[in-house]
Amino acid sequence: MRKLLFDSLIRSPVTEPAPALDGDHLAELASTLGRTARRRLGRSLAIREVDAGSCNGCELEIHALNNPFYDVERFGLRFVASPRHADVLIVTGPVTRNMREALERTYAATPDPKWVVAVGDCALDGGCFAGSYAVVGGVSEVLPVDLHIRGCPPSPTQILKGLLALLEGLNAKRNGR
Ligand code: SF4
Repeated sequence: MRKLLFDSLIRSPVTEPAPALDGDHLAELASTLGRTARRRLGRSLAIREVDAGSCNGCELEIHALNNPFYDVERFGLRFVASPRHADVLIVTGPVTRNMREALERTYAATPDPKWVVAVGDCALDGGCFAGSYAVVGGVSEVLPVDLHIRGCPPSPTQILKGLLALLEGLNAKRNGR
C-alpha cells in the first residue's frame, strides 16, 4: 500500500491531454443548425433524449451540448422534458427488453412530423451488448430510424453535424432535390 501511494505521487496521471477545441467552428455549426431548423420548422428544434439501455457514455456527450462551452440553446436547439413537445427523438444504447415498451410509447407520444436519430454504435446494432439476453438489438429493430450517428461515443461536434445533416436532408426532400 505504501509503495502504491509513493508511486502515485511520483508518476504523472494516466490521462491524455484534452483535444484542442475550435470554438468558432462549433459556434458556426450550431448556428447553422439553428437557422436550418427555423427554416425547416419555422421555429427552434426541440429534442427529446431517450436512453434505451446505454452505458451512459453517449449521454455524457449529449449532455455536453448544454454545457457552458457548447451551450446549444443559444442557437435555438432545445432539449425538452416531454416527447409531446419534441420534433426529434435522440435514442442511445442498444434497446433493452426492459426499455422496449417505454421507447415505443415515447415514439407514439411524439407528434408528427417527427424524426428518430440513433446515436452511438450500440444504437446501430447493439454494439458491444449485441447478443445479450437482455437486449432486443439496435434502435431500428423497434422504431423507424431517420439517421444514425456512429461512434462510441460520438463527440458533441459529430452529434451537431448529424442533426444538421438530418435537417438539410429534410430541406432537400421538401425542395424535391
Ligand atoms: S456506443 Fe459506446 S458510449 Fe454509447 S452506449 Fe454504446 S458502449 Fe456506451
